[in-house]
Amino acid sequence: LSLGLNNARAARRHREEARTDALTGLLNRRALFDTFSGKPLDAGRAVVAFDLDRFKQVNDRYGHAVGDQMLKNFSDAMRQNLREGDHAARTGGEEFVLVLQNASSQLASSTAERIRAIFAETYIETPLGRLAGTASAGVAIANGEPFEELLHRADTSLYRAKDGGRDRVVTALHAA
Ligand code: GH3
Ligand code: MG
Ligand code: MG
Repeated sequence: LSLGLNNARAARRHREEARTDALTGLLNRRALFDTFSGKPLDAGRAVVAFDLDRFKQVNDRYGHAVGDQMLKNFSDAMRQNLREGDHAARTGGEEFVLVLQNASSQLASSTAERIRAIFAETYIETPLGRLAGTASAGVAIANGEPFEELLHRADTSLYRAKDGGRDRVVTALHAA
C-alpha cells in the first residue's frame, strides 16, 4: 500500500514538473498551450505577452547568473499580480505570457503596467553595481477568438512597444 502511495506521489510530482518552468516555477510553454490551445477565449479574458528588454546585453555585461536572477524577479512581479483563475507562464528564454480572466481592458492594461513598473524598480546588486531590467508588453483583449489568435495580437502589440522605445505596455482593443 505505501509503495503504491509513493508511486502515486512520484507520478504526480513528475506530472507537475513536466508542467513547470524549473527556473521560475511558473507554468512552462507546454502547460500553457495544453490549457488554452485551440480554445476560444471569451470576453473578459485577456492575453499579455511580455519580453525583457535588451536582455542579451544583461547577460553579456553582468553574466548569466545575474540574467537568471532577473528572470526570477520578473516572475515574482507577475506572481504578485495574479488573481484566482489567471495563468502565468514562461514561454521562452526571456518571454512570458499572462492569461487573465474577468478582466476589463483597463484592468488588463493596468495589471501589465503594474508588473512592468514593479520589475523596473527591482534592483539586483552585482560586483559591477546595482541594476534593474525593463520589460515591454503587449495586451490583447478577448472576444471569443482562439487563444493562438489572441497571442498573435498580443505579440503584435509587444513589437509596437519595442518599436516605441521599450519599457512600456501597448494595448490592442480590437482585432487588427
Ligand atoms: P529585445 O529588447 O529586442 O527583446 O532584445 P533582447 O536582447 O532581449 O533579445 P534577444 O532575443 O536578442 O536576446 C534574448 C537573450 O535571452 C539571449 C539569451 O542569451 C538570453 N536567455 C535566454 N534564456 C535564458 C536563460 O534561461 N537565462 C539567461 N540568463 N539568459 C537567457
Ligand atoms: Mg525575446
Ligand atoms: Mg528581449
